[in-house]
Amino acid sequence: MAEKNIESTCELCRKRFLIIKQESEFYARQQIPLPRKCMECRRKHRESLRNPRKLFERACDKCQMKLMSSYAPDSPYKVYCEKCYLETI
Ligand SMILES: [Zn+2]
Ligand SMILES: [Zn+2]
Repeated sequence: MAEKNIESTCELCRKRFLIIKQESEFYARQQIPLPRKCMECRRKHRESLRNPRKLFERACDKCQMKLMSSYAPDSPYKVYCEKCYLETI
């Protein structure tokens, strides 16, 4: 069992970070490896999992051309391809 805080280097941003005693004990109990990323990078990673910038395949509402849109197919927004968009405005 770890006796004190563990100092580690983030594998992403190379910043030094501390794994506190309680944290390392928690990881040991859960039998999961110690984190190799600092808090900040882990937080960013979690956020990127939560809000992935997802693209949906949709068809232009005017000419039906296939395009990628960040609006889900069931969203109320109309999507236009570049050509139709320019014609609309
Ligand atoms: Zn980092
Ligand atoms: Zn179109």
